[in-house]
Amino acid sequence: MQCPKCGNEMLKGSLLGDRYAIKWQPADKKLVGGIFARGGFALKDESSLFSRPKTEAYVCENCELLTVDLKTQRKA
Ligand SMILES: [Zn+2]
Repeated sequence: MQCPKCGNEMLKGSLLGDRYAIKWQPADKKLVGGIFARGGFALKDESSLFSRPKTEAYVCENCELLTVDLKTQRKA
């Protein structure tokens, strides 16, 4: 994947969660009870019972930009 800012080839890697799928929440929403996210969405979770939640992500070391392609990595 090419960086959308500088065009360099990005490094492929993963965002890893601890126990549950990683979620994205808009800045104008608040956590319910300080824990539960709402108004956003979960990222795709390729984990199994004995592994950590894992979402494919790319990093541009030049721009220090982290990118997730939601077309493939957003949880259905
Ligand atoms: Zn870049």
